[in-house]
Amino acid sequence: MLSVIIPSYNEGENIKIAAKVISEILENNSIEFEIVFTDDGSSDNTWETIEQAANTDNRIKGVKFSRNFGKEGAIFAGLAKAQGSCALVIDCDLQHPPELIPRMYDLWKQGYEVVDARKSGRGKEGIIYKTFAKTFYKLMKSSSGLNLDGASDFKLLDRKVVDALNAMPERLTFFRALSAWVGFKTAQVPFEVQPRVGGKTKWSFKKLFKFAISSVTGFTAFPMQLMTATGIIFFLFAVVMGIHTLVRFLGGHSAEGFTTVILLLLLIGSFIMLGLGIIGYYLSKIYEEIKFRPRYIIEKEIDKNED
Ligand code: UDP
Ligand code: MG
Repeated sequence: MLSVIIPSYNEGENIKIAAKVISEILENNSIEFEIVFTDDGSSDNTWETIEQAANTDNRIKGVKFSRNFGKEGAIFAGLAKAQGSCALVIDCDLQHPPELIPRMYDLWKQGYEVVDARKSGRGKEGIIYKTFAKTFYKLMKSSSGLNLDGASDFKLLDRKVVDALNAMPERLTFFRALSAWVGFKTAQVPFEVQPRVGGKTKWSFKKLFKFAISSVTGFTAFPMQLMTATGIIFFLFAVVMGIHTLVRFLGGHSAEGFTTVILLLLLIGSFIMLGLGIIGYYLSKIYEEIKFRPRYIIEKEIDKNED
């Protein structure tokens, strides 16, 4: 059985369409399935729509969070709930073309444990957004070795991979990168991002920026190594300057002016502050992880097979 996991946040108008389109495609290809909607603390009628769908079709299940915990939490709740021998994560707004599911399923049948759908175009995204995403993925690749260019959360995972992800103890997850990090036999399928069927995107620039920073720091200690590198460069500079100053001093000329001293002080001061900031950021991550709070809190669930 294939478990379809759909994270949904204020998707009231999309739930029914998504359920209908996806079920039809799967039925036509005679793929046995269940659909797990995770309502990520929506403030609209998302949960009511999920309940209605679950009441009419017992293959449809729902999990409702007590508040908005973010897409990551919603995906992981779905993975925990999924009972299939493979699980597919797909967006509720049908921006991930569901027509691709049968092909992804076939690849899974052929023995691929991770079927990774990659964006071949970025759809109708702004130029700033595109540049931002490109830079972010470059940074991730050079620092962590994971190639995430074009990666999305649209993936089909074998039970083994789902179990491996479920067993991860960390709180601050990044699904897209974690599913690459776990390894396994991977196939890639390109897709074109579709326009949203209804509603609007839940991501603000601020949210995305925070997400990017926390993903980079969650995967690599590269920013901290950058500090060491800066330190080494400064040290080499210090040696040259030191020798220069000493030679001049011994030759009877003292080094000129305050300007040098002030400039050096300012420069070193900023670098130290920056370094402290980076350490502080990692420290706050450690603090968050060490509290061992759950990734999400489930308020209620609906599963007509269990009643
Ligand atoms: N989503 C979620 N929690 C959030 C934000 C988004 O579960 O806090 C879901 C949303 O309902 C959708 C998917 O994540 O199914 C992708 O969100 P969206 O379409 O807003 O992002 P975009 O496609 O613009 O990247
Ligand atoms: Mg979307």
